Amino acid sequence: MKKKNFKWCFLGGLSVLAIFIWYGVFQVEARRGLLTVDFFDVGQGDGIFFQTPSGNQVLIDGGPDSAILSKLGETLPFWDRSIDVLILTHPHADHIDGLLEVLKRYDIGMVLESGVNHSIPEYNEWHQLLQSKNIPVHIARFGEIIDFGDGVHFDVYSPQESFFGSSPKNIHDAMVVGRLVYASSSILMMGDAEKSLEYQLLWKKSGFLIFKSDILKAGHHGSKTSSSEEFLRAVSPQFAVISAGRKNRYGHPHQEVIDRLNSFGIKVFRTDLDGGARFISDGNILRRK
Ligand SMILES: [Zn+2]
Ligand SMILES: [Zn+2]
Repeated sequence: MKKKNFKWCFLGGLSVLAIFIWYGVFQVEARRGLLTVDFFDVGQGDGIFFQTPSGNQVLIDGGPDSAILSKLGETLPFWDRSIDVLILTHPHADHIDGLLEVLKRYDIGMVLESGVNHSIPEYNEWHQLLQSKNIPVHIARFGEIIDFGDGVHFDVYSPQESFFGSSPKNIHDAMVVGRLVYASSSILMMGDAEKSLEYQLLWKKSGFLIFKSDILKAGHHGSKTSSSEEFLRAVSPQFAVISAGRKNRYGHPHQEVIDRLNSFGIKVFRTDLDGGARFISDGNILRRK
């Protein structure tokens, strides 16, 4: 056991101010300077897990049911029952329901979410569990950087304004979107972001943000309401990962998105067809394992 820390600071242009320092305890692993990122096949939903070279473990969303538990069980050693950070991109059932199971069974260091208002029973249970387990919650804000050390950081691109306690017309506009960076490799995590948020990012914040990324976690399960041409041109990824359930009732991913990705020469991984995908980075090259 050893202690590592990560800290919060702000993107360039704003003061570099550590606003929060949190110490996580985790098992020492021989990770040999590698970042591993698992896009789990959780059916129709998202479940993404990454481990940093120093051993920080982060889960972004938990899919629609308890399938996430067996995915984590296959990925983590049996004695590891803790996860440093849970990120809830938004409180839709296909993202939060599995996280409830994770909250019940794992020790969680802290939670990052938008704090948006949304009345579904699962979100009430989420808040009750966080309270009863005394888990610190940080409301994500544009411009924050979560620094995991060793050159790994998660830069918060959205929400761009505070949605804490408010109910936007489209909850997908209050998405927690971030870019996971390890030295010169990067993944843009879009959650269920749709075109309106893509345009907001591109037009309002293009001076501040780096879009170019090796991997795009395509927004909203490959829906045609996401992954606009302009956005794909800006991100220009080598790979796109689409998390969707086999034969899901929404018809995700939509063929026109697949065609658009193909037209840019982006290699597509689909959890519905290819199963889960693991990528590994040594800081320079992200490759699929
Ligand atoms: Zn979703
Ligand atoms: Zn959603």
